[in-house]
Amino acid sequence: MDKKFKIEFDEANVQDSVSYILVTEFDLKPNVLKAEISGDGSGVMILALEGEEAKLEAAEKRLKEAGFNVSITKRIERDEDLCWDCGACVSICPVFCFSHDKDTMKVMLDNSKCIACSSCVNACSVHALSLHL
Ligand code: SF4
Ligand code: SF4
Repeated sequence: MDKKFKIEFDEANVQDSVSYILVTEFDLKPNVLKAEISGDGSGVMILALEGEEAKLEAAEKRLKEAGFNVSITKRIERDEDLCWDCGACVSICPVFCFSHDKDTMKVMLDNSKCIACSSCVNACSVHALSLHL
């Protein structure tokens, strides 16, 4: 299964040690989807992780014990009844989660690439999109 972790860190527990723990202790392959680091060394990153559920849960527990603020990001959700395929989200998503189906011109969503930036949520005029971190 796959999960996305949102991990907040500070200068005392830097980004590198997160990957080290995930790879060496849990045999997970982290894929950094987003990382923002402030001048003081604190920051937040969103990691996509694939592996056995038990290992993912153990990794989450381990990171929390190491002092990281860890939460599981949920996927972006769309209310199909509200969406009218206007396309506003297609152009605004920085990682191309949305696309037009060439035959139907419906807006398709592939949330596996989502980096939880919220841009589409704010862009949707009918509030069809929601993101729960
Ligand atoms: S911006 Fe909202 S209404 Fe428009 S296509 Fe995207 S989800 Fe649908
Ligand atoms: S939250 Fe950001 S990355 Fe995710 S689907 Fe919306 S615009 Fe794309």
